[in-house]
Amino acid sequence: MEVSGLDSDGKEFKNAEEMWREQIGEDGEQQEKKTQWYREGISYWEGVEASVDGVLGGFGNVNEVDIKGSEAFLQMLLSDRFPNARNNQHLVALDCGSGIGRITKNLLIRYFNEVDLLEPVSHFLDAARESLAPENHMAPDMHKATNFFCVPLQDFTPETGRYDVVWVQWCIGHLTDDDFVSFFKRAKVGLKPGGFFVLKENIARSGTFLLSHSLI
Ligand code: SAH
Repeated sequence: MEVSGLDSDGKEFKNAEEMWREQIGEDGEQQEKKTQWYREGISYWEGVEASVDGVLGGFGNVNEVDIKGSEAFLQMLLSDRFPNARNNQHLVALDCGSGIGRITKNLLIRYFNEVDLLEPVSHFLDAARESLAPENHMAPDMHKATNFFCVPLQDFTPETGRYDVVWVQWCIGHLTDDDFVSFFKRAKVGLKPGGFFVLKENIARSGTFLLSHSLI
């Protein structure tokens, strides 16, 4: 059975195909409409304050429970995949669509020796760079935010074999379906042997999807 989706103005779509057809068009017009789709996504965030409340769409209070849940999940994965990490392994993570670096600062930097951040909106990335600077941030010995990439996921190809974990949270919905698939195919080469992706997303409470024109 096909369940319909909604956009944030209450408009119904029969299915995801119909929504995409409307948003990014049929093949011929695709490139132009796709460019516009991405432009609108970025310009929404360019108007948002560089704060925890801003990147969480007004739900700053979710930060703590999100980090706790992610930490429990990450600990389970790390002890399963990297049982010797505590001893000598140099662990590296990539925080995708990192916003102001909320996840890196509250979680990843405590577990990974190095974290790279990828974020296309420059005022968010600037805020991340500042709050993760060694003089402003007490990270455990030798743990640091290394690279700050100001590019969108659909244009990013990671360095081969650099990452133990590629963390993708609350940003993948910005990608079209074909870019979603090709991102994971490309980013796979960025993983070390045994490395993995973590993808954390919200799901629609009713219907199969919700297309959000704005978050608040
Ligand atoms: N993951 C962060 C930020 C979530 S807000 C956190 O949980 O705190 C969503 C983020 O996705 C914003 O910072 C926004 O700029 C970013 N984003 C928007 N379009 C993107 C794209 N095409 N590729 C990567 N990130 C994108």
